[in-house]
Amino acid sequence: MAIIKYGLQPGLMLGTLTLWYYNPESLWVYPLIAIGAQIFLGVLEYLYPARRDWLQPPSYKLALSFVFIGLFIFSVTCVVPLYMAYLNPLLDQTRLTLGINIWPEHWPLLTQVFLAFFLSEFIWYWFHRAEHRWQWFWRLSGHGAHHAFKKLGAINAGTNHPLELLLVLSLPSAIVELVFGAGMAVVGSTLLVITTASIAHSNLDLNTKVVGWLFTTNQYHIHHHSVVHAESNTNFGCAAILWDRVFGTFSKGLTLETGVAPREPSLWQIFLMPVLEPDDIQTAPLSKDKTAQ
Ligand SMILES: [Zn+2]
Repeated sequence: MAIIKYGLQPGLMLGTLTLWYYNPESLWVYPLIAIGAQIFLGVLEYLYPARRDWLQPPSYKLALSFVFIGLFIFSVTCVVPLYMAYLNPLLDQTRLTLGINIWPEHWPLLTQVFLAFFLSEFIWYWFHRAEHRWQWFWRLSGHGAHHAFKKLGAINAGTNHPLELLLVLSLPSAIVELVFGAGMAVVGSTLLVITTASIAHSNLDLNTKVVGWLFTTNQYHIHHHSVVHAESNTNFGCAAILWDRVFGTFSKGLTLETGVAPREPSLWQIFLMPVLEPDDIQTAPLSKDKTAQ
């Protein structure tokens, strides 16, 4: 459908920003956007899937949502006190000592949001690239769990190992807030990252032109989920593709198969991946060496 192909990504990104911009103090707006985008994309995937063989029963998606939303809530309740106790005072003090007070507070709020968005995505780009570069970081962050799925959908934006939520995924926005004191702009940019990352995992036929110059589209991100090692080592930006273009890791092309191995590990195996990886894993950093042996 042309309206989905050309209008969905810009429309949903614009809708997210508009809803937040006019209700930034309303707590209901945050779950509404995060969960609403998932339900909206899930229904569209069911009606107009790009790959019919990737369709999952709603009960499977619901079960996956409960498991990972539960883990997300658990991680957040752990991570917020940790950040407040250790990271916040450290970065606050650094900012005061160095006299860093460069955040353009006088700019229009939406311009600040896009600045915070591209800055946090810059930090995420290097964290993510490091996860794919070093085996110890791949294991420690549990990033393999996110790559384990053979059938992708918008729901996979949230299927991350709790270790990754704790150690990596929350850091980019927190660093932008704490280093620059970006305030509300970080809240808006985090919502935009959540919406864009959900679209980037969706099983829909979407256009990559124009919007794909700066933002990650699902064609680019699904390529990153390829089971082929060389293909998974590209397109590290989950919401902004700009940094891949700048640092030479951008690629596009057909993705035949996703996952970390020829078969999908069970949910238990996925959670155990930081300590025990499947024997047939192909996309971990050392996999090239393994296959060469
Ligand atoms: Zn990755």
